[in-house]
Amino acid sequence: MTFSGALTLSDLNDFITPSQACIKPVEVEVAADEPGAAATQINIDSVGNYYEVPAKDAQRPARKLKTAKISLNDCLACSGCITSAESVLITMQSHEEVLSFLSNNPPPGSPEHRIPVLSISPQSLASLSASISSTSAQPVSMRAILRRVQAFCRQALGFSHAFDTTFARHLALLEQYREFKEWKEETSTRDKNKFPMLASACPGWICYAEKTHAEMLPFISKTKSPQQIMGLLVKEWMGKLWNQTPAEIYHVTVMPCYDKKLEASRLDFYNDVYKTRHVDCVITTGELDLLMQEKGWDLSVKVSGEDAPDLANTIDGIPFPELVFHAGTSSGSYLHSIISFITTYQENQGNTVRLNSKIIRSSDYEEFTLEDTVTGGVIFKGAKCYGFRNLQNVVRKVGKESGVHGLPGGAVRARARKTPAEGQGRSSQDKTHDFIEVMACPSGCVNGGGQIRPSSTRKVLEEVQLDPEGYPRQSSNITGGDDDNNTSLVQSSANWGDKNWIKRVETSYWTSKNEGIDPTVRMTLLRVLHDICLPLESQPYSEIDIDNTFWMRKLDSKAESRRSEFFRTSYRKVESEVVGLAVKW
Ligand code: SF4
Repeated sequence: MTFSGALTLSDLNDFITPSQACIKPVEVEVAADEPGAAATQINIDSVGNYYEVPAKDAQRPARKLKTAKISLNDCLACSGCITSAESVLITMQSHEEVLSFLSNNPPPGSPEHRIPVLSISPQSLASLSASISSTSAQPVSMRAILRRVQAFCRQALGFSHAFDTTFARHLALLEQYREFKEWKEETSTRDKNKFPMLASACPGWICYAEKTHAEMLPFISKTKSPQQIMGLLVKEWMGKLWNQTPAEIYHVTVMPCYDKKLEASRLDFYNDVYKTRHVDCVITTGELDLLMQEKGWDLSVKVSGEDAPDLANTIDGIPFPELVFHAGTSSGSYLHSIISFITTYQENQGNTVRLNSKIIRSSDYEEFTLEDTVTGGVIFKGAKCYGFRNLQNVVRKVGKESGVHGLPGGAVRARARKTPAEGQGRSSQDKTHDFIEVMACPSGCVNGGGQIRPSSTRKVLEEVQLDPEGYPRQSSNITGGDDDNNTSLVQSSANWGDKNWIKRVETSYWTSKNEGIDPTVRMTLLRVLHDICLPLESQPYSEIDIDNTFWMRKLDSKAESRRSEFFRTSYRKVESEVVGLAVKW
């Protein structure tokens, strides 16, 4: 199907033309009485309702047709994104499933008892915070929301532990920088055009690459997402400290989108030995909200000590850090963490650098260059790219820059490949991208499809202003009052992508920022790395000389392989089961 040249699509940021395989064939319910003759015809009335009208029998009434709805399963299972077995696993991931597990879980002490653990993403906390703040006299911080969610999980549902996933994200960012350094070293000797590296935390985007542009898979970082690292921390690391096998723990995550259910269902995230997944059940922020409503839990009610920054969770005496924040973006700060590592490295070398940024068309596509202030040479070039429309531009960009056949622009580039000289002195136009933070949702994870939608009239900030370090400026002027300045009235809207509502969630996200990474975070992450990589034959943790460079250090081959198994994954091309030419219209 093509659109008329006179027809323009506007105000869309997430639109992909459906493929032939996405069109559902019309079901003909009335048999034709002669070969080749149409038995019914479809009429459309002035308001867009569809009617099936018998072509021959004028006495039979027209029948109003139901609007077709495409569910997650239709979409994911259409041409092989996932197998039907995996689609069953996805349907099993719901809040009803959590309730069913909890009510059937034998009491602690029974051989069949599994320890229920819940981990919630920071974007989900921001969504809940924005939702509660919109009806409160005072903004409710993410820390307070985390405490209330923890109280709900423990008191109303019987969970043993409830964490947030920001510490897992911290590990993901460290590991991703390590991978980026390896990638840089490898490609500088192999092929200078094999850039950029693309971020990997968004399953929506990974699914798209696996299905439509497998040529791009080698460019995607193999570092696991925070959800999957959290899965391993809970089932493997905490499990050992609790003296439990992975199968004896039931792990639920709360995420901003449905795509995370698909991610948790991937075969790579299944423990064959213990026959268990790293994350047993993923529910969205909206589903958690539903769960609270069903249990009669009012999230707007304070719980004791909710603003205290003390660490609520310890694992066998080891504090488990919470709300570890990273300057940059609310979708994970993948790009900014690399920029920050490179800046520190350059400064340690005695160089001074300057970060420039440029928004191209919308804030969903922004380019960053790190320049040497003395030579003016570009040390690093990266971009933040959100939403499928921008994502398709990135595919073209990668094709052009890399010269990879099969990607748009790749063949042209391969023929006329003129590699600019590596290193200092190149202009930002010459320099190919080093890294792109890619996210499938316009505005990123705060706008995930599973987040809470606005439900009442409210006032919101006009703009979230970022300071030079990437943090939003003072957010104290966000209130629900009627007389505040800098606010605008927003009518209730259940639409995905409501820009004013996204700004509010974004602002909530940054209200609980921590200043820097505190020593507790550093100590726990080194302990985790030690336990994962050097668990058996090495000295006890207390006797090992672990310093702050430990994460970047190359370990021996056994330790490296354990580390890689824990933190890295792989992707595969998805073969479509639909042969385009065989589809009948
Ligand atoms: Fe999920 Fe959207 Fe975030 Fe991707 S960008 S991880 S699809 S919420």
